[in-house]
Amino acid sequence: MSLLRLPSSVRRKLEQIQRDFLWSGGNLERKPHLVRWEMVCLSKKKEGLGVKCLIILNKALLSKWNWRFANEREALWNQVIRRKYGEDRGGWSSREVREAHGVGLWKGIRMDWELLGAQISFMANVWDPLAKGGRGGWNPCFSGALNDWEVEEAERFLEHLHEKRVLGDVDDMVVWTETKSGKFLAKSLYLALEADYHVLFSSSCIWNVWVQPKISFFAWEAAWGKALTLDLVQKRGWSLANRCFMCLENEETIDHLLLHCLKTRVLWELLFTLVGVSWVLPSSVRETLLSWHGSFVGKKRKKVWRAAPLHIFWTVWKTKNRLAFKDDELSIQRLKYSFLLSLWSEAKLFIVDCPLTMVAFIDWLGSF
Ligand SMILES: [Zn+2]
Repeated sequence: MSLLRLPSSVRRKLEQIQRDFLWSGGNLERKPHLVRWEMVCLSKKKEGLGVKCLIILNKALLSKWNWRFANEREALWNQVIRRKYGEDRGGWSSREVREAHGVGLWKGIRMDWELLGAQISFMANVWDPLAKGGRGGWNPCFSGALNDWEVEEAERFLEHLHEKRVLGDVDDMVVWTETKSGKFLAKSLYLALEADYHVLFSSSCIWNVWVQPKISFFAWEAAWGKALTLDLVQKRGWSLANRCFMCLENEETIDHLLLHCLKTRVLWELLFTLVGVSWVLPSSVRETLLSWHGSFVGKKRKKVWRAAPLHIFWTVWKTKNRLAFKDDELSIQRLKYSFLLSLWSEAKLFIVDCPLTMVAFIDWLGSF
């Protein structure tokens, strides 16, 4: 990965193994992959699952060699490549490798030079060392007359430039603009290359919550509308009647099941009653998570408050699966108890003086 360009056939096979690992264990034989792989590969901040995308990772790691080529000129390997392929851009890179045949090691690395070049600052011929009586000064030329709306920006640029000086007696060097230190880090290139995905979404309401990873993972699927509810099963070509296993009335969609189903409502109302707030649930899982603020509940209880919707999702999902696959009957008492137990047993793990009995815990919730 860090020396050779990953052939696309190998990449596809590796990704297949990763996908099967992630999605296996579903209840259907075909083990559907619920969220597009590109989304899974986005970092968690960008709404993904944080799995590394192999193709970007490979590019970022190979680019390290282009960086070292520019910075370690004296190294033997570097000298060999300079001799063999020639220099370009004032020695900062080798010439492009144009051999038609064969898969040269350096050819694969040099191909991605532009990735690096785009993020490096170069000093152009805008510094006049003889200006200002030999102290040196800037002499920038603009390619055309400035428009009115560009003047202010140009002024700021010149002001910024004015404070900088080019040192004539120091060797030139390349500076990596994506890190504070100016040193190249494969990770910073990886993040720069990762596709930006601008959707209003707070991943912190899923991942920065004190719950087990499997509970966060389910909330992540649900927020994407990708948990395998009956409407999605139908779309995948299975001929099943779509009737919610909980209420036996409406069609099952993720928003119905986790928010609006009459039986699920019991849990939301239980939570709001215990905490003593009135709350209007938005129409979708995604909006619910986005609007879930809890500054009013105090620091300690905030952890429980933030975890509560995820516990409701998880409890309902487990109950629904039990009803669907074990032919069980729904008991509202049991549903309520499962939810409170789930909330309490996890709260005990991260709240130091969490009440040690369920009854005391319920009281504690009410003392918001
Ligand atoms: Zn229902």
